[in-house]
Amino acid sequence: MGDTAMWQGFGGKVLLPGGKGYDAARQVWNAMVDRRPRLIVQCTSVEDVVLAVRNARALDLEIGVKCGGHSVLGLSLPEDGITIDLTPMAAVRVDPERKRAWIQGGALLGALDTATQEHGLATTAGNVSHTGVGGLTLGGGMGWLARQYGLSCDNVISCQVVTAAGDVITASRDEHPDLFWGLRGGGGNFGVVTEFEFQLHDIGTRTLSVELDFPVDGAAGVVAAWRDLSATAPRQATFAATVAGGVVSLGFVWIGDPEAGRTYARDLESLGTPIAERIVELSYVELQTREDTVEGHLIRRYWKGHYFRELSDAAIEALLLHDPEVGASLQAYGGAIAEVADDDTAFSQRDVAFEYVAATRWTDPDEDEQRIRRARESAARLEPFASGMYVNVISDEGLAGVSRAYSPAKLTRLSAVKRTYDPDNVFHLNHNISPTPEPAGG
Ligand code: FAD
Repeated sequence: MGDTAMWQGFGGKVLLPGGKGYDAARQVWNAMVDRRPRLIVQCTSVEDVVLAVRNARALDLEIGVKCGGHSVLGLSLPEDGITIDLTPMAAVRVDPERKRAWIQGGALLGALDTATQEHGLATTAGNVSHTGVGGLTLGGGMGWLARQYGLSCDNVISCQVVTAAGDVITASRDEHPDLFWGLRGGGGNFGVVTEFEFQLHDIGTRTLSVELDFPVDGAAGVVAAWRDLSATAPRQATFAATVAGGVVSLGFVWIGDPEAGRTYARDLESLGTPIAERIVELSYVELQTREDTVEGHLIRRYWKGHYFRELSDAAIEALLLHDPEVGASLQAYGGAIAEVADDDTAFSQRDVAFEYVAATRWTDPDEDEQRIRRARESAARLEPFASGMYVNVISDEGLAGVSRAYSPAKLTRLSAVKRTYDPDNVFHLNHNISPTPEPAGG
């Protein structure tokens, strides 16, 4: 850890292998990840983060940055490196008059949703409350509000950032606009964000969830009809589907007056008679936490994702051939996501119709190989129809995944931002943008 004098003035905890709290702090969402950093430094302030970055560089340690710990590869934990653990920095401050929230860089989505909903406000966040605001927002941030208000990154007004040089700067439309552009979709490549300022929206507190189940056999026409309805759906509705265990579940999540959602749900009667249906009113906070248990920790995980600009009939046929033990999900984009100009943010592919994820979970390490193979096979069937992928669901694709997430033009621009703020690629445990001009993977 270097000499103790190095950490003088550090307000948080420095955890070492074998020491108290170390094993708990190196646990991340995916139980496949079992790495042992040489140091885990739990930061409590921006000054702690500055010291951590400077000391990591002085010690020549590989840096991982941890917020929610939900990257599927566990990128926050470098073997024998240093984890800059932001989780103690989880405060959320809300100004209901100005409809703004200031969220520290280690906060989870649940903290954001709970604090803003006290005022009937919210901003776009993901679907599982123990995901980190940091990783989710920096990669884009898709959620049930995105069709109304844009992605999480579209709602960021400013970021406080500790750079690779250990400087503290603010990025916004007016200050360091190149960095601000890169932080909205470019992932954790450019520095450690210690605070996000978000735009909030009056959303009330009520939602409706509509799910209709059909047997997978013979469901192609039903899925195609659901897809066609999605294209003209009001923005309150985000169409979502899952395929698992021989059942395809089709419907939407509605944010707004549930009665209006129920009225709109009648359009789904044209799909035919389902074998089961669940039409449930939930508070927004209930909606945002309802997958928390099924998506919980201590389970082995693997996933693969694609974006579809259009979900063709042939793609639907391939989807329905999915391995019944590998879950597939679809979530619709469109609306406000597609209205932001493509060059306004690093986030790419705003014109997609659906995001797809094949996800598998298990507990026995002996099953690792076959589980991963089966998920890959299911996702491979869909790959010919894909237009790219979401950076936040890249798993083991490496630079090929980065090239699928961004256009060549975006990669060139991201590289330029990287050269300005992190020319030595100090922050490389992420979906890495190379500081050299060649497109990653090219
Ligand atoms: P971490 O592993 O802590 O961080 C991931 C990476 O982000 C780090 O390696 C680092 O590079 C960077 N990072 C994190 N915080 C900071 C910071 N403050 N400053 C600088 N860099 C930082 N995505 C969606 O868009 N919508 C969803 O609904 C959604 N649901 C999900 C549900 C589950 C159960 C899981 C596991 C993931 C989900 N995701 C979703 C994907 C999610 O956005 C990514 O996994 C994201 O990387 C998680 O961020 P984290 O902070 O939890 O993870």
